[in-house]
Amino acid sequence: MSTSRTTPTDRISWASAACAQKDADPEWWHSNLRKDRVKARARCRNCPLQEPCLAEAMHREGDARAADRKGIYGGLDGQQRHKYHTTGIRPDPVEPPAQPLHRTTGRTPSGCGTEAAYQRHLRKGEAICTPCREAHRARAVRQRAARKAERQAEFVS
Ligand code: SF4
Ligand SMILES: [Zn+2]
Repeated sequence: MSTSRTTPTDRISWASAACAQKDADPEWWHSNLRKDRVKARARCRNCPLQEPCLAEAMHREGDARAADRKGIYGGLDGQQRHKYHTTGIRPDPVEPPAQPLHRTTGRTPSGCGTEAAYQRHLRKGEAICTPCREAHRARAVRQRAARKAERQAEFVS
Protein backbone atom coordinates (compact mmCIF):
# COMPACT_ATOMS: atom_id res chain seq x y z
CA MET A 1 0.00 0.00 0.00
CA SER A 2 1.14 3.51 -0.73
CA THR A 3 1.58 5.73 2.30
CA SER A 4 1.03 9.03 0.50
CA ARG A 5 -1.65 11.23 2.05
CA THR A 6 -4.28 11.18 -0.64
CA THR A 7 -8.01 11.18 0.03
CA PRO A 8 -9.58 7.72 0.09
CA THR A 9 -11.35 8.43 -3.15
CA ASP A 10 -8.85 10.15 -5.41
CA ARG A 11 -9.24 7.74 -8.30
CA ILE A 12 -13.00 7.47 -8.33
CA SER A 13 -15.10 8.67 -11.23
CA TRP A 14 -18.31 10.17 -9.90
CA ALA A 15 -20.15 9.95 -13.22
CA SER A 16 -22.14 6.94 -12.00
CA ALA A 17 -23.18 8.69 -8.77
CA ALA A 18 -26.94 8.66 -8.25
CA CYS A 19 -26.85 12.38 -7.52
CA ALA A 20 -25.12 13.05 -10.84
CA GLN A 21 -27.89 11.56 -12.94
CA LYS A 22 -30.16 13.78 -15.03
CA ASP A 23 -33.36 12.91 -13.17
CA ALA A 24 -31.89 13.97 -9.81
CA ASP A 25 -31.96 17.55 -8.58
CA PRO A 26 -28.68 18.29 -6.76
CA GLU A 27 -30.61 20.68 -4.51
CA TRP A 28 -32.23 17.70 -2.77
CA TRP A 29 -28.92 16.95 -1.05
CA HIS A 30 -28.76 20.45 0.43
CA SER A 31 -32.42 21.20 0.99
CA ASN A 32 -34.14 22.25 4.20
CA LEU A 33 -37.29 20.52 3.03
CA ARG A 34 -37.88 17.11 4.49
CA LYS A 35 -39.44 15.79 1.28
CA ASP A 36 -36.30 16.72 -0.66
CA ARG A 37 -33.96 15.11 1.84
CA VAL A 38 -36.02 11.92 1.78
CA LYS A 39 -35.54 11.82 -2.00
CA ALA A 40 -31.81 12.46 -1.67
CA ARG A 41 -31.42 9.64 0.83
CA ALA A 42 -33.39 7.26 -1.36
CA ARG A 43 -30.93 7.97 -4.18
CA CYS A 44 -27.94 7.53 -1.89
CA ARG A 45 -29.34 4.18 -0.80
CA ASN A 46 -29.12 2.88 -4.36
CA CYS A 47 -25.94 4.70 -5.30
CA PRO A 48 -23.00 2.50 -6.35
CA LEU A 49 -20.64 5.04 -4.80
CA GLN A 50 -22.24 5.26 -1.37
CA GLU A 51 -19.22 3.89 0.50
CA PRO A 52 -16.50 6.01 -1.13
CA CYS A 53 -18.80 9.04 -1.02
CA LEU A 54 -19.25 8.78 2.74
CA ALA A 55 -15.54 8.06 3.24
CA GLU A 56 -14.70 11.14 1.20
CA ALA A 57 -17.05 13.38 3.21
CA MET A 58 -15.76 12.06 6.56
CA HIS A 59 -12.19 12.59 5.41
CA ARG A 60 -12.83 16.11 4.15
CA GLU A 61 -14.77 17.19 7.25
CA GLY A 62 -12.24 15.87 9.75
CA ASP A 63 -13.20 17.07 13.25
CA ALA A 64 -15.78 19.60 12.04
CA ARG A 65 -18.71 20.43 14.29
CA ALA A 66 -22.11 19.00 13.34
CA ALA A 67 -23.33 22.44 12.26
CA ASP A 68 -20.44 22.79 9.84
CA ARG A 69 -21.13 19.49 8.08
CA LYS A 70 -23.45 20.55 5.27
CA GLY A 71 -25.46 18.40 2.92
CA ILE A 72 -26.17 14.70 2.67
CA TYR A 73 -23.36 12.33 1.66
CA GLY A 74 -23.54 8.58 1.50
CA GLY A 75 -27.08 8.87 2.84
CA LEU A 76 -26.03 10.62 6.06
CA ASP A 77 -26.73 14.23 6.98
CA GLY A 78 -24.30 16.42 8.90
CA GLN A 79 -25.65 15.48 12.34
CA GLN A 80 -25.36 11.81 11.51
CA ARG A 81 -21.83 12.14 10.12
CA HIS A 82 -20.83 14.01 13.26
CA LYS A 83 -22.29 11.23 15.38
CA TYR A 84 -20.47 8.66 13.28
CA HIS A 85 -17.22 10.59 13.69
CA THR A 86 -17.52 11.01 17.45
CA THR A 87 -18.95 7.59 18.37
CA GLY A 88 -17.62 5.34 15.61
CA ILE A 89 -21.14 4.00 15.26
CA ARG A 90 -22.59 4.50 11.80
CA PRO A 91 -26.16 5.77 12.05
CA ASP A 92 -28.93 4.47 9.80
CA PRO A 93 -29.16 6.67 6.70
CA VAL A 94 -32.74 7.69 7.39
CA GLU A 95 -34.42 11.05 7.75
CA PRO A 96 -35.28 11.66 11.42
CA PRO A 97 -39.04 11.72 12.04
CA ALA A 98 -40.80 15.02 11.58
CA GLN A 99 -41.40 16.90 14.83
CA PRO A 100 -44.23 15.15 16.68
CA LEU A 101 -47.46 17.06 17.07
CA HIS A 102 -48.10 18.54 20.48
CA ARG A 103 -49.83 16.04 22.76
CA THR A 104 -52.82 18.19 23.73
CA THR A 105 -53.12 20.92 21.11
CA GLY A 106 -52.36 18.75 18.07
CA ARG A 107 -50.20 21.54 16.70
CA THR A 108 -46.56 21.40 15.76
CA PRO A 109 -44.62 22.56 18.80
CA SER A 110 -42.98 25.96 18.53
CA GLY A 111 -39.49 25.83 17.17
CA CYS A 112 -36.48 26.85 19.20
CA GLY A 113 -35.98 30.56 19.63
CA THR A 114 -39.43 31.11 21.19
CA GLU A 115 -40.66 31.46 24.76
CA ALA A 116 -42.86 28.39 24.27
CA ALA A 117 -39.87 26.30 23.25
CA TYR A 118 -37.92 27.66 26.22
CA GLN A 119 -40.70 26.57 28.55
CA ARG A 120 -40.82 23.18 26.85
CA HIS A 121 -37.11 22.67 27.47
CA LEU A 122 -37.75 23.48 31.15
CA ARG A 123 -40.69 21.08 31.42
CA LYS A 124 -38.75 18.27 29.81
CA GLY A 125 -35.67 18.97 31.89
CA GLU A 126 -33.65 19.51 28.72
CA ALA A 127 -30.62 21.72 28.31
CA ILE A 128 -31.77 25.13 27.09
CA CYS A 129 -30.40 25.92 23.66
CA THR A 130 -28.94 29.31 22.79
CA PRO A 131 -31.84 30.54 20.57
CA CYS A 132 -34.34 29.71 23.33
CA ARG A 133 -32.19 31.31 26.02
CA GLU A 134 -31.93 34.47 23.92
CA ALA A 135 -35.65 34.53 23.19
CA HIS A 136 -36.40 34.18 26.90
CA ARG A 137 -33.96 36.96 27.83
CA ALA A 138 -35.33 39.28 25.14
CA ARG A 139 -38.84 38.68 26.46
CA ALA A 140 -37.77 39.54 30.02
CA VAL A 141 -36.18 42.75 28.77
CA ARG A 142 -39.38 43.72 26.91
CA GLN A 143 -41.49 43.00 29.99
CA ARG A 144 -39.26 45.09 32.24
CA ALA A 145 -39.40 47.96 29.74
CA ALA A 146 -43.18 47.71 29.55
CA ARG A 147 -43.54 47.75 33.36
CA LYS A 148 -41.23 50.72 33.59
CA ALA A 149 -43.26 52.59 30.96
CA GLU A 150 -46.43 51.79 32.90
CA ARG A 151 -44.99 53.13 36.15
CA GLN A 152 -43.85 56.30 34.40
CA ALA A 153 -47.32 56.76 32.90
CA GLU A 154 -48.86 56.44 36.39
CA PHE A 155 -46.38 58.94 37.77
CA VAL A 156 -47.14 61.67 35.25
CA SER A 157 -50.92 61.25 35.32
S1 SF4 B 1 -24.02 8.35 -1.95
FE1 SF4 B 1 -22.88 10.21 -2.42
S2 SF4 B 1 -22.46 10.08 -4.58
FE2 SF4 B 1 -24.08 8.64 -4.15
S3 SF4 B 1 -26.00 9.77 -4.43
FE3 SF4 B 1 -25.49 9.95 -2.31
S4 SF4 B 1 -24.37 11.88 -2.19
FE4 SF4 B 1 -24.34 11.27 -4.34
ZN1 LIG C 1 -34.50 25.47 22.14
